[in-house]
Amino acid sequence: MDAVSNKHVFAFEEGDGKNKHLLGGKGANLCEMTQIGLNVPPGFVISTAACLDYLASADKALPDGLMTEVREQMKALEQKTGKGFGNPDNPLLVSVRSGSAMSMPGMMDTILNLGLNSETLQGQISATGDARFGYDAYRRFIQLFGKVALGVSDEAFDKEFEIVKKAAHVEQDVDLSATELKDISERFLRVVQEGTGRPFPEDPYVQLEIAVKAVFGSWGGKRAVDYRKQFRITPDMANGTAVNVCTMVFGNRGDDSGTGVAFTRNPGTGENKLYGEYLINAQGEDVVAGIRTPKPIDRLAAEMPEMAAQLAVLRDNLESHYHEVQDFEFTIEQGQLYCLQTRNGKMNAVAMVRTSVEMEREGLISKERALLRIEPDLLEQMLFPRLDPSVKAESVAQGLPASPGAAAGIAVFDADRAEQFGGELGQKVILVREETKPEDIHGFFSSRGILTSRGGKTSHAAVVARGMGKPCVAGAEGISVDVNRRVAVVGDTSFKEGDVITLDGTTGKVYLGEIPTVEPDFTPELGILLSWADEEAGLKVMANADLPDDALRARKYGAVGIGLARTERMFNDVERLPIVIEMIVAETLDQRQEALDRLLPLQRSDFQHLFEVMSPYPVTIRLLDPPIHEFLPDENVLERELEELHALAQTSRGMNALAGAMGLLHTSKEKRKDLDSMRRLVDPALVEEAITKKEAMLKKVRALYETNPMLGHRGVRLGITFPEIYRMQIRAILEAAAECGRMGIEVHPKIKVPQVCTVQELKKVKDYVDEIHEEVKQQYGHPVNFQFGTMIEVVRACMRAESLAEEAEFFSFGTNDLTQATFSFSREDAENKFLPLYNRSEILQDNPFEVLDEKGVGKLMKLAVEWGKAVRPNMQVGICGEHGGHPASIAFCHNAGLDYVSCSGPRVPVARLAAAHAALAGKG
Ligand code: PEP
Ligand code: MG
Repeated sequence: MDAVSNKHVFAFEEGDGKNKHLLGGKGANLCEMTQIGLNVPPGFVISTAACLDYLASADKALPDGLMTEVREQMKALEQKTGKGFGNPDNPLLVSVRSGSAMSMPGMMDTILNLGLNSETLQGQISATGDARFGYDAYRRFIQLFGKVALGVSDEAFDKEFEIVKKAAHVEQDVDLSATELKDISERFLRVVQEGTGRPFPEDPYVQLEIAVKAVFGSWGGKRAVDYRKQFRITPDMANGTAVNVCTMVFGNRGDDSGTGVAFTRNPGTGENKLYGEYLINAQGEDVVAGIRTPKPIDRLAAEMPEMAAQLAVLRDNLESHYHEVQDFEFTIEQGQLYCLQTRNGKMNAVAMVRTSVEMEREGLISKERALLRIEPDLLEQMLFPRLDPSVKAESVAQGLPASPGAAAGIAVFDADRAEQFGGELGQKVILVREETKPEDIHGFFSSRGILTSRGGKTSHAAVVARGMGKPCVAGAEGISVDVNRRVAVVGDTSFKEGDVITLDGTTGKVYLGEIPTVEPDFTPELGILLSWADEEAGLKVMANADLPDDALRARKYGAVGIGLARTERMFNDVERLPIVIEMIVAETLDQRQEALDRLLPLQRSDFQHLFEVMSPYPVTIRLLDPPIHEFLPDENVLERELEELHALAQTSRGMNALAGAMGLLHTSKEKRKDLDSMRRLVDPALVEEAITKKEAMLKKVRALYETNPMLGHRGVRLGITFPEIYRMQIRAILEAAAECGRMGIEVHPKIKVPQVCTVQELKKVKDYVDEIHEEVKQQYGHPVNFQFGTMIEVVRACMRAESLAEEAEFFSFGTNDLTQATFSFSREDAENKFLPLYNRSEILQDNPFEVLDEKGVGKLMKLAVEWGKAVRPNMQVGICGEHGGHPASIAFCHNAGLDYVSCSGPRVPVARLAAAHAALAGKG
């Protein structure tokens, strides 16, 4: 309600075009367009405040005095148009439309041609001289009003409509004659009478009042409530709907009339050219309903040159006023062009980026606006393949959208076979697993997408796939994966190895068969826009990347360093894993050292490559983190293999016995030779050796077993109990840096320790670092310039930040673990067990593994930043958990005083734009 005057109703000439909260988006724009001199049919807006009053009233009554205000406005409309509401000689007809502050397309109701009744209809017919036109408008009105305002079902009307059409032998509505439309109108009136038990209301003011109430009521309708829930439209953003009452203009008044919808620029490409379609001699809903095929707007110049010229002027006026691409509706009534509605155009990412850059160059918007008008997440469209939106398909399963993009390929159920089919045979492969482990990494390289039936968005599969920019659907629990039989069962259907499936990692959907994809387009305009973002941003954006290829891509996307290189990934290479396993299974320190000595040059070259690719930017390398049993095969697999090997050993013993027996049986020389070669095929010594190795491995797997490995023997605890592992890695980092230095390559290595909870742990590792640095210095003749720091991913680390800052030169928040630790929610399981229900029932607003929990985890972070920087003011603080690529979390990091965010490479562009948004929000 207008605070000063109790005013609920505003003429288009007087409403405040900026006050969308009060007038709704549509109403505010109608007022604004009227006031800047565009040709809008006269009308007025009833405010959202009136809607709220109405909905809150016990007896569903309109606010006091509302209809009096409406009547005054109707009188003014009569004056402006020279027509009379309910006047049979020259009737005024109006449209009644909903419109809230946030666009909710199709969710609320609209009524056209209001004011028609048995008398005004005749007036309308004689004023236009067109009976067909009159009855057509009448039957449309009765149906819309009947449905929207009186609750009569569409089917009841459609049934009558079909009867007349059939009897008249016509296919298209436009082929119905005036008489037939009259018949339809009469039938419709009876439908209303039967449906409501009352005659159709004749009094236009009664019609208007019912319509206003119906539109207000549609705000609380199920469709609208569900929509707001789905799109998180809070009362803050939109509260109630306004009602727009607007003089009807008719595009169906002959061949000098028409109607259309247009964008001021192409919403698919961003091209600076009017884009849209129109129909001659038609009403607005005909364009939308697809009853007739509209023509491309280009044709209008030939058909109606004068109107096309006026439309071009309208387009320029709209853009220069709104400083934004507009999506507008127009109607031409007997050579008069009217603008009926305008709103900001919804566009795809390519168009948003191109229009931002071009409108800035045209001087239409500032750089700031060019950045702010694009939601950072939208950019993802430009970085990943998408399912072709024109193809309609039914998904068979739904998992978590764990890594965006779409891919199709044959299902393969283990990493080795993925490598074989995808790598060696060059086929398109989708790796399907119950869950993935580090040892599956080679399968990731050869696959186009990853599907798991277990695990969350920070599960191994999700994190690795995101890092590689490959689509991943995780935790699709509706799929039961049988790796041994190489088949997956989904409800009453299934797919087996070799069957083609399609994944959409952006939505989490899984499809059978191949659905075509459209390729991403990283356009030159995106490069320009992101360079503007970097100028504004306070936070630097780094990448989580483990391998040179990932680092290279991250750099291409604009990462200014690596914030997290997970070294465990480097251990999983097929050539290295056996050495790593040897290192783990080793019984003595010497044996372990021998394996580590073989790993050292490999790690050194890994790091050297990363340094080279990222030079001169910093590269943060995290010492080994996961529990080492993760590198060993699964206990069940080992047990099964051992069983098979024992059976094989028995067979080979049996064959030996048989060979001996053959000699006794004096069989022919030839036969004995055959048997000998069979015996050699399975060498008993080899089988025994395999059994010994597997048994040692099984013993180790059992010895390393932990009930809660995520809280167990991992991270720095591993580095302290097996110092030789960390020592090897530290040496590899420092030697790689020294090698680069020798080649004149500028490097800035940062050594990062995971899972630290007390400074004593850091001190211990720092001792190794100092000692090894001393040796490397001797070896290369000069010191290495590096930093030593810690992950902050344990609650105690936050609480002891002051103390940790004495040893750590930088902090890096591992918010995946920190979230797990703060909530005590398993990051592997929570997302597909109880979290969805928690979110649905609003126990938790968001998934905390995706959206940083500012109130809990964020509070800990703020304390740690404050306490850490108090001790070491210039300390660099960053985030490398998955939240580092999430726009709202990035804004939080900006405000919490972090220096950088680090996210998977393909999120880097999103993060760069989000960092700029965060900085600009601070300015504004
Ligand atoms: C984290 O915990 O946030 C992190 C980055 O480490 P990881 O996901 O490898 O445990
Ligand atoms: Mg972690």
